[in-house]
Amino acid sequence: VLEQKSLDPNTSIDALEEMAQKGIVPYRGTRARAAFVVLIRNRELNDFLRTMRQLEDRFNRRYHYPYVFLNDEPFTTEFMHMVAQSTVSNVTFGLVPTDHWSMPEWIDPQKALEAREQMRDVIYGTSLSYRHMCRFNSGFFYHHPLLADVEFYWRVEPNVDFYCDIPYDPFVFMRDNNKLYSFVIALRELEATIPTLWDHTLEFMRAENISSDLMPFFVSRSGEYNLCHFWSNFEIASLAWLRSAEYQRYFDYLDRLGGFFMERWGDAPVHSLAAGMFLKREQVHFFNDIGYRHEEFTHCPSSLAACQCPKNVETFDDSRGSCLPRWLGYEPFVWTPNDTVEAQRLAR
Ligand code: GDP
Ligand code: MN
Repeated sequence: VLEQKSLDPNTSIDALEEMAQKGIVPYRGTRARAAFVVLIRNRELNDFLRTMRQLEDRFNRRYHYPYVFLNDEPFTTEFMHMVAQSTVSNVTFGLVPTDHWSMPEWIDPQKALEAREQMRDVIYGTSLSYRHMCRFNSGFFYHHPLLADVEFYWRVEPNVDFYCDIPYDPFVFMRDNNKLYSFVIALRELEATIPTLWDHTLEFMRAENISSDLMPFFVSRSGEYNLCHFWSNFEIASLAWLRSAEYQRYFDYLDRLGGFFMERWGDAPVHSLAAGMFLKREQVHFFNDIGYRHEEFTHCPSSLAACQCPKNVETFDDSRGSCLPRWLGYEPFVWTPNDTVEAQRLAR
């Protein structure tokens, strides 16, 4: 049984380690109802164990948040045993319901196949399972029964790195500061994956009479989508927000249009544009102090003592294609899609 103890925000990492060894779970205020969510395939076990080791060392060995593993196929006993042995936290394993991982009846499978064949030059362009994954992460994962009592989730993928000690509770930070969405890397999407997503999103905004002070972050000088999005392989966010009627309406609208199959809409631009429409700028948080790598992109604040950023790796923050400078300089103002003059003003 783990004792819980309230935490001074200035507690040192050594003191936290000592508490962890005594089985004391530190938290500030009330502990968050939160969990790690991991959608993963059995064959990615070793890649995840490596990531999980880091996540435990950097954060969760002191906080003991549970893990929820999801898969469209049953997990092997080896998978379940190995991850269960890698943490003292609770771990649960869930199957994705078939109708959350299949083509809806309004999609013509033959046309969808032809559309995939046309995308040979695009990463994952011909993959059907990738499309199921993106659609699941866009519109379904937050309905999984294993997440019913969870308020905030932290999405984790196999084979990512965490480079900094996290000496506070990001879930509690989110909750106590009224944050609903967060990111560490923001970058530009491949246009070929979302040719019609922007126009449909504007139509939705008009139909629903949405005005927003965050959407202009995503608008270019000419009023087009600037392709910026929060990279969703890392996400700490509110499940209540994703379960809200307005988010669900947006997802259902997109799903009806078929772009998850006829194009290759990613869950990252979908989450981001939804944040643009439904959230205020101050409800979205940039976790500068969480050093992170996914594939070839890294965010690492080397100036922080808590971070051990690899020498040969450059933080993506100021690189070409990064939207972080835009985020940091972004001054919110209220905008509607008919407001083209304002649309021009924002991109200065
Ligand atoms: P990328 O990050 O866009 O390159 O895509 P990934 O291949 O990393 O997939 C994103 C996440 O979904 C990862 O956590 C994968 O483990 C998971 N994933 C992708 N495809 C599948 C699949 O077909 N089945 C399951 N169970 N998980 C998947
Ligand atoms: Mn990935």
